Amino acid sequence: MSVTADRERGVLSGVPTGLLVGGSWREAGDGASIDVEDPSTGAVLTSVQDATATDAAAALDAAAAAGPAWARTPARERAEVLRRAFDLVTARAEDLALIITLEMGKPLAESRAEVAYGAEFLRWFSEEAPRIAGRYGQAPAGGGRILTMKQPVGPCLMITPWNFPLAMGTRKVAPAVAAGCTMVVKPAAQTPLSMLALASIMEEAGLPAGVLDVVTTSSPGEVVGPLLRDPRLRKLTFTGSTPVGRTLVEQSSQQLLRLSMELGGNAPFLVFDDADVGAAVEGAMAAKMRNAGQACTAANRVYVQRGVAEEFCEGLAEQIGSLVVGRGTQGGVQVGPLVDDRARSGVAARVDEALEDGARVVVGGEALGSQGYFYAPTLVRDVPAGSRLLTDETFGPVAPVVVFDEEAEAVALANDAEHGLVGYLFTEGLDRGLRVAESLETGMVGLNTGVVSDAAAPFGGVKASGYGREGGAEGIEEYLETKYVRVASR
Ligand code: NAP
Repeated sequence: MSVTADRERGVLSGVPTGLLVGGSWREAGDGASIDVEDPSTGAVLTSVQDATATDAAAALDAAAAAGPAWARTPARERAEVLRRAFDLVTARAEDLALIITLEMGKPLAESRAEVAYGAEFLRWFSEEAPRIAGRYGQAPAGGGRILTMKQPVGPCLMITPWNFPLAMGTRKVAPAVAAGCTMVVKPAAQTPLSMLALASIMEEAGLPAGVLDVVTTSSPGEVVGPLLRDPRLRKLTFTGSTPVGRTLVEQSSQQLLRLSMELGGNAPFLVFDDADVGAAVEGAMAAKMRNAGQACTAANRVYVQRGVAEEFCEGLAEQIGSLVVGRGTQGGVQVGPLVDDRARSGVAARVDEALEDGARVVVGGEALGSQGYFYAPTLVRDVPAGSRLLTDETFGPVAPVVVFDEEAEAVALANDAEHGLVGYLFTEGLDRGLRVAESLETGMVGLNTGVVSDAAAPFGGVKASGYGREGGAEGIEEYLETKYVRVASR
């Protein structure tokens, strides 16, 4: 069923549009605002405040002031805030899903899945907070005891992208709240509403003023730069592109900040002759077409062994060709628009370039519609080595397929990449599955599955995909320091 315009207006009117600083929603110092656009239509949905560096400094003031009391708050109380936030997000899942769809474009069914995934971080870290522990031991040489304790890192800066505007927020906010850290969050300018709605829910769940501060801005470099130079800031956690990540790592070196860098991906997707081809097609659809291919985990390069190449490509082409593209609020839509015109032109240019170099389109291969930023779900075969469709992260619904003969060749192709976030492989052979999983230069592997994200698992990459892990038992460690106390024994 399609969502009515009245319901859209009703949900949008409930989202705060100010900056959240020290528990107050306020206007930006210079009164400027940023328009938030619906990528399905290009229409302006609403506008939010456009923070200056002075506003961001005020947010850090608030986070720093709230730090000591929040660090002393018992873990059980921090956990209860997160658990209440989980319940509130779950109760308001439909509204939050609509907000995501309106500002980002993905179909409602995918937005609901993002809300459920994002909420799980609140629940998972509510369970982790009371389990923060240290160690006790005797010094091996005698004469002393070794105690270690975990303490919150301190005020954190969180920078999030537009592609999962709610879940990329909870993946950072929840472990920081659990660990006893305070934070300034800067969401992506294109999709600030999901984070603002989440911040309002965190307040309602009982998070004290100043623990979570939010600044929306159209000038991220100018606003973030001074924060990175401020000695009160102790950690930067960033999810976004590798080039921006590199700049932030350089900037944060002055204060030697603790860093978590969740950067770009260029995931290989390997299908071996001994795979369940039907399952591989399903896996490829999930790994490639979810979020219209705008995911760091998106399968970006599909390598298929010759023996199953025709069957796999036929199955994939059929499924891709039957996808319903449209505005995410309409019933039955499976693929939404790309986030903006620049993103769509970039995808189109890469496909056109590959075609000029000898690749052929099996299905799709063109921009769609007279409004919004739609691109047809696409399958391209015979993509030549070195094509940007294979070497760069393509944030769009385009599956480039390459045929291989030997396992070693597939592994070499998969690892011949700057990034190393996730790799997928389909095989019914246990030994091959584990052998290839061990050989892939990635932080995560999907073995016979096209989806790896799980709040209970450590999400993160190697190589140019960054460092640090979000989720799992590892996730809270990113927000904790280890202190060692030597105790003399006489
Ligand atoms: P992006 O351009 O790097 O932006 C990410 C965030 O950084 C946004 O909030 C952006 O603000 C901000 N930003 C941009 N320039 C900045 C600067 N000079 N200083 C401080 N902040 C700055 O990335 P994106 O296009 O939004 O997101 C897509 C990328 O994120 C892809 O590469 C994808 O693979 C990656 N990603 C990675 C993961 C992961 O877990 N590894 C998850 C999701 C996405 P504005 O909105 O104002 O530009």
